Formats: sequence, structure tokens, C-alpha cells
Amino acid sequence: MKKRQFKTESKRVLDLMINSIYTNKEIFLRELISNASDAIDKLYYLSLTNKDIKVKKEDLSIMIDIDKDKRTITISDNGCGMTEEELENNLGVIAESGSLHFKEENENQNDVNVIGQFGVGFYSAFMVSDKVTVESKSYKDEKATIWSSSGVDGYTLSPSNKESIGTVITLHLKEDTEDYNYSELLTEYKIRSIIKKYSDYISYPIKMEVENSRKKEDSDEYETYKEITTINSMIPIWKKDKKKITAEEYNNFYSDKFYDYKEPLKVMHFNIEGNVNYTALLYIPSHAPYNYYSKEYEKGLQLYTNGVLIMDKTSDLLPDYFSFVRGVIDTEDIPLNISRETLQDDKNIKLIAKSIESKIKKELLSMLKDERDKYEDFYKDFGMQLKFGIYNDYGMNKDKLVDLIMFYSSKEKRLITLKEYVDKLKEEDKNIYYACGETNDKIDLLPQVELFKDKDCEVLYLTEYVDEFALMALGEFEGRKFVNVCKESADLSTEEEKEQIKKENEDNKDMLDTMKETLEGKVETVKFTNKLKNHPVCLTTEGEISTSMEKVINSMPTDEKINASEVLEINVNHKISDKLKELYEKDKEEFKKYTKVIYYEARLIEGLPIDNPTEMSNLICDIMANK
Ligand code: ADP
Repeated sequence: MKKRQFKTESKRVLDLMINSIYTNKEIFLRELISNASDAIDKLYYLSLTNKDIKVKKEDLSIMIDIDKDKRTITISDNGCGMTEEELENNLGVIAESGSLHFKEENENQNDVNVIGQFGVGFYSAFMVSDKVTVESKSYKDEKATIWSSSGVDGYTLSPSNKESIGTVITLHLKEDTEDYNYSELLTEYKIRSIIKKYSDYISYPIKMEVENSRKKEDSDEYETYKEITTINSMIPIWKKDKKKITAEEYNNFYSDKFYDYKEPLKVMHFNIEGNVNYTALLYIPSHAPYNYYSKEYEKGLQLYTNGVLIMDKTSDLLPDYFSFVRGVIDTEDIPLNISRETLQDDKNIKLIAKSIESKIKKELLSMLKDERDKYEDFYKDFGMQLKFGIYNDYGMNKDKLVDLIMFYSSKEKRLITLKEYVDKLKEEDKNIYYACGETNDKIDLLPQVELFKDKDCEVLYLTEYVDEFALMALGEFEGRKFVNVCKESADLSTEEEKEQIKKENEDNKDMLDTMKETLEGKVETVKFTNKLKNHPVCLTTEGEISTSMEKVINSMPTDEKINASEVLEINVNHKISDKLKELYEKDKEEFKKYTKVIYYEARLIEGLPIDNPTEMSNLICDIMANK
């Protein structure tokens, strides 16, 4: 016999289970049955491609036994089983999928919530047991092993003579306490009702020996006898009649299956008959998983054929821009032994994927139309993914997604669609204006934005780094061009005003050129502007690349660095303009200091970094001291 310690993380979860005062302890059975079902799925799936593994579909089942005298519940399955090493790795270390992630995400939640809202897996057995043994024989090993543990002190591994492939888990129930009647779990009635409640849809029979009574032959007396019956209906929820499924059932299925502790935002359950036949039960989550915007997140739908799981995360069924959708597809129109490689080229998979995509889009559009608040909630978490969708693949999918994206509006003070923006425009308005920044509040304070707001011109606020790239990929919307208000060319002034400022710039050409030289190539142009109202200066750009694009591209981990062509614009109506002109005549040294400070200032307003903050602060102090 080998003695082992649990890993620290496991110990904590285990301790939490053992001492839990959580009242809904009965979920342990759901967890163990779900593991058993997964193990059977795995073996069955392997048998489809590996001739050495012989499985008869009709034999696959999960068996529950109750022993009142020994106070034990046994859950047996004829699934894939575990080798000694797997027992150690799977049960000695807390599963990655469940509670650990939850903990990271919700550091402040208390333990009761952890259990209630999450699938806690195998360890939940310790909520009701003071000792658990797992006897298992893997399909890939001759030897069988018994894993046994009485809690945090560790576990033991010893050889077993189990002959059949599969796993038998025995729970030694705790003694009854004032708070919980563990003995009730030893009744047929209780176990039946727990299975009905949580595991009815499991696609393999969950069997149990039950007591029945019948009339004796040739007599009026009754006798009791025992027989093994199947407790679950085995009809997966998606195959049930929609009208008979409650919202709670949909939600329970979702949280069990996809380990989400929050209810989904939308449930889509439909049946398609046509070129390809399938049933879908899809969910739009109400929040993004913690790893959603990272490489670790794996998109995909569960693929079943005839109620049997074929593939867990079938990525080919979902486009990247709808990767947030979770759910199940059941179809008879694909070969049972389909693999990841053959799947990609399967014509029916392609048809299903196309049909699902259009269903999801329709659902989102109708949510946007009829349930605006809900859509905005959705958009907060997943909008970025839609915008990536527009930008990625050289804009190939932009037309499909353009109606789904929204931006914050300077006028409405909430998210609006591009259509809503354009619908308010007059015939002669040719542009859709936007501005970029870290937050809506910061954009609202940009000098360039102030001017547009003043002229009653609506500006869209772009706060995510993908935003401007998405608009670039779109190019235009309903014949209107996207224009960054921080572009030098974004100008609402009249012809007369334009003439005036042109003259002003020509008259002061020498001075402005000297300023440009002082800034040593950092800016393309220095000029006076009449665009600004109260602010002294602003930084705009010429050409395709904006300062926010520069920020994004230069923050990427590549060597490629770009520079936006910057234009330093000085408010001609501000006192600073007169001061500059005066210094240019009287004190060239001071003039240069002012120029630098003004430039630094303009960068700060734009949220751009300052190369040399020490120089800036020294210059400011110099100027103040000379006053
Ligand atoms: P999860 O199911 O979330 O992965 P668990 O703690 O419930 O976490 O289980 C850990 C792992 O142990 C499973 O992923 C699986 O590999 C293995 N396991 C659990 N129960 C069984 C079983 N009955 N048969 C085979 N393997 C199992």
C-alpha cells in the first residue's frame, strides 16, 4: 500500500467539502454520475476507432447500490476506468475545470457559494462521506487499483483484483447530525428523486435495485421482490418537447454542463429539418468566462449523434465571432467515427455551421431590437469579439456583423448602432465622426471632441483597441465615411474661417517652422487653428495612421514600430498664441522652451507617453521661475 499527500490546493477544497455546512449536499450524486457518464462516453468513443476495445452499447450503464447496514452508497460504471497513475493525478489534484477557476474569479465569495454555484467534481463526495474508495481498472492497463481516502490526511493506493473495466466508487456516509440527515441518502426514494432531479437526461441507464411488490400466484397475498430498474428517462433535454421544459431545467442543464455559476442570458432550442437535420440547444452566456479573451479559451459546441457524445468542443460548428455560444448539437447526419480531421471537410457539418450562424445572428438582432438592456449587457462582455470579427480575415465577415456593433454616443450618452447614427444625419452629412481614448470620460474631455459637440455633431467614442481597426475594415457605412475627429482634416469650419486661418499660418510661417525645427522631427507640421474653443493646443494626425493606432501597434510584441504623422495645432484665439508671437520676436531661447512644453502638453491630453518627463518638468519650472 502506498501512502500519499494531497496537493495543497486539493487540501483546501477537500477541507471545504468535509466541513461544509452547505445544505444542498445531494449534488454529490450528480457530480459522480456525470463523471461516470463522461467515462462511458470516452470508452464508447474510443471503441469506434479502436478495434481492440470491445464495447456493447446496450451494456453501458451506471449502477447505484445502497447498503443500509454498512452505510454505503456505491456508484459503478463500465467506462474507461483509471490507471494507478491516473487515479493519483485525477483525484489527488483538484480538477482544473471547476472550483479553482471559480476561486480565481471570485476571490471574495464565501465557500458556500463556491459549492452552490459550481460543479465541484469528485471531491463533493466528501460532503457526505467520511471515507471514499475508488476501485478502478483502465481499458489500457491489466492491473486494477484501489484509491482510498478519509480526508485531508491523504490517500492510499493499493492493488485490486477487479476484473472488468470501469470504476466503482464507494461512499461511507457520515453519521447523522442535527443539521443533516445523512441516513436519508440510504433510502431508495431519496436517491431516486435526486437522480430524477439532476441526472435524468444522462444518456446511459442509471440502474438501481428497487423493491417492488406483486400478487402471489394463486393467492390474494402480496409479496415483495427486488428488481433492477432504470431510474432516468435518458431523454436528453434537447430531445424533449420544448413546451414541457421549464426555464429552471434549461438553466440547470447549462450550469451543470458548462460550469457557469450565472444563469445564461438567452436559451435557443430548435430543431431543423431540411438539407441537413439537427437539434440544437444553444446558450448565450450572461458574462464572459475569465479566460475568454485569451488563447486558452476553446470555442465549440458539443456534438452528439443520437444522444451519444461524439466530440466535446467542436470548433468547426462556430465562427470565431460567435465563439461565446455554448451548447449542444445533435444530428444523425454525420458518421459516428468522425474525427477532428474529417470533420472539417464534412459537408453536413458545414451546412449545420452555416445554419447555426444565421440562427445566432437572428437571435442577437432580435435581442437588440426588443430587449435593448439585455443586448447592452451582452455587448459589454462580447462586443469586442464581434468587432474582432469585423476586422479579422481581411474584413471578410464585416457585412454579417456590422448591424450588431455599437459605440457610445456623445449625444445619446449610451451605446448606439451605426444605423442609429446614420438615421439622424442629413442628406449632405457625409461623415461618421469618432474619437479614440481610454475611457468615455477621457474622450469627452478631448479638445477636438469639444468642438464637434459644440456644433451639435454626434461623435462615437472608441475605447477598445480593436475599435478603430474595425471601423477601418468597414471603410464606410451606408455611404458615409468614418472620420476620426483627431485627424487634421476633420474640420467643421466654414470656407471663410478656413481662408482666415490659412492667411494667419502664411503670415507666421517662419515662426511655425522654427517651432517644428525645435521639436526635432517629432511633428510633421505646426500650425494655428481656429477649431479649438477653450483649449490652447491639440495634437492631430495626417494620413491613415492615428495616434491611437500608433499606440496599439507599438504595444504589440513585434519589432515593427510605426509613427503617426503628428500635427501640433495651436488655438489662434488663445492668449498663448500672442505670447508665442511675442517671444519669437523678443526671446528665442524662451520661445523654444514654450514650444517644447506646449508639445508635451498636447501629448498628455491625447494620453500619449512623454519621452522625457524630466525635461518637461525642468522646462516648466524654468518658465515659472522666470515669470
Ligand atoms: P472534472 O470532472 O471536472 O474533471 P472531477 O474532480 O470530478 O473533475 O474528476 C477529475 C477527473 O477524474 C476527471 O476529469 C476524470 O478524468 C477522472 N474521473 C473521475 N471520475 C471518473 C470515473 N468514474 N471514471 C473515469 N475517470 C474518472
